[in-house]
Amino acid sequence: MPRIAQSVIDEVRQLNIVDIVSPYTEELKKVDGKLWAICPLPNHLEKTPSFFVDEQKGFFYCFGCHEGGNGITFIQKCKGLDFAETVIHLCEQFGIDIKYDVEKGSQF
Ligand SMILES: [Zn+2]
Repeated sequence: MPRIAQSVIDEVRQLNIVDIVSPYTEELKKVDGKLWAICPLPNHLEKTPSFFVDEQKGFFYCFGCHEGGNGITFIQKCKGLDFAETVIHLCEQFGIDIKYDVEKGSQF
């Protein structure tokens, strides 16, 4: 499989984490500049929100299941995808053109 171009990965990294996480949460409640929600990750069922997103710093963390990371990590954990699959998934969702690095010495 060809490698996804670094420029595409950089573009995905710059996506707003709130836009990435929002479709997976019932509701994000703003408290002290952080957005809290019931944890949307699989294998963690809870009734009170211990999952938060820091929009400024672009990361999430859950005090219940101790999972955390950036927007890409979130989709990886939530959907069980690997890194490349996650980048492609986010490109499709947010309308980013997927480009690949053309390897030196290939037939192209
Ligand atoms: Zn959790």
